[in-house]
Amino acid sequence: MTVSTITLHDGTSIPQLGLGVFQVPPEDTARVVEQALEVGYRHIDTAQMYENEAGVGDGIKAAGVARDDLYITSKLNNSFHRPDDARRVFGESLDRLGLDRIDLFLIHWPLPTEYDGDFVSTWRALAEFVEDGRATSIGVSNFQPAHLDRIVEETGVVPVVNQVEVHPFFGNEAVREANRRHGVVTEAWSPLAQGAIGDDAALGEIATATGKTVSQVVLRWHLQRGDIVFPKTTKVERMQENFDVFDFELTDDQLATIGELDRGEDGRRGPNPDTFDYIPD
Ligand code: NDP
Repeated sequence: MTVSTITLHDGTSIPQLGLGVFQVPPEDTARVVEQALEVGYRHIDTAQMYENEAGVGDGIKAAGVARDDLYITSKLNNSFHRPDDARRVFGESLDRLGLDRIDLFLIHWPLPTEYDGDFVSTWRALAEFVEDGRATSIGVSNFQPAHLDRIVEETGVVPVVNQVEVHPFFGNEAVREANRRHGVVTEAWSPLAQGAIGDDAALGEIATATGKTVSQVVLRWHLQRGDIVFPKTTKVERMQENFDVFDFELTDDQLATIGELDRGEDGRRGPNPDTFDYIPD
């Protein structure tokens, strides 16, 4: 199975499908990552706040895949937006992951109501990590169009990706459009709506028609829209199922039917980035 890749505006390429490890318990993470790499995954999405970067590092070591074949993403903990904190904890992430360079590092949340609304100095700090060679690329997560406009305007540094909630029940089209306008690729978090897609009748019909599972249909929909996905699972059978999405195509009608499931703001499962202000102790 060959995973499609996307070329980012800085010239690097990223596997369009990976494995997300949010809510994978730290003690299980090495096993989960090693199994995913054995299945064929080469892209892992973690974060400081998931508290499992060390497990990701151990899984990478155990699998023995060549470093250049891997694509590893992590994200800045909400507690460390001040530039000096960001500089310190970025190095700690690399140590936990056992890497001297990370492929992609993101601001996890903009936190516009915290830190005097200043996520711009945080973004400038991340740009230093590219300059010193410790991050190949940098991006953002949960940035609304106004947040994106602001960092680009004030720094001239354009994120390669914006990782935001997107699934059939929440298309997040305004953010996807803002991303396109800036040449930023959308990464769709909770691509399976955290498992909630399983009960939908329209998706069930498309699964029957294509001979695929509902999860495979939804992942295919994301891929054909051009977004990057990293469904989370701890189960190896589901890792295989979610990986097996490159041998079929949805028709335009099927894509449109899935598009009609968008419930706008009511379809959101996670917090609204304009008001989210969680800062861990
Ligand atoms: P997902 O949409 O990936 O759904 C995960 C859930 O679906 C789990 O309960 C999993 O269960 C289940 N599942 C996975 N595969 C299948 C399958 N084939 N059939 C049936 N059920 C399945 O949700 P996440 O919220 O985990 O999002 C994915 C990734 O996105 C995260 O791991 C993280 O990397 C990223 N993310 C980023 C955020 C951000 O703020 N930047 C916020 C949230 C997520 P099980 O494990 O039991 O298989």
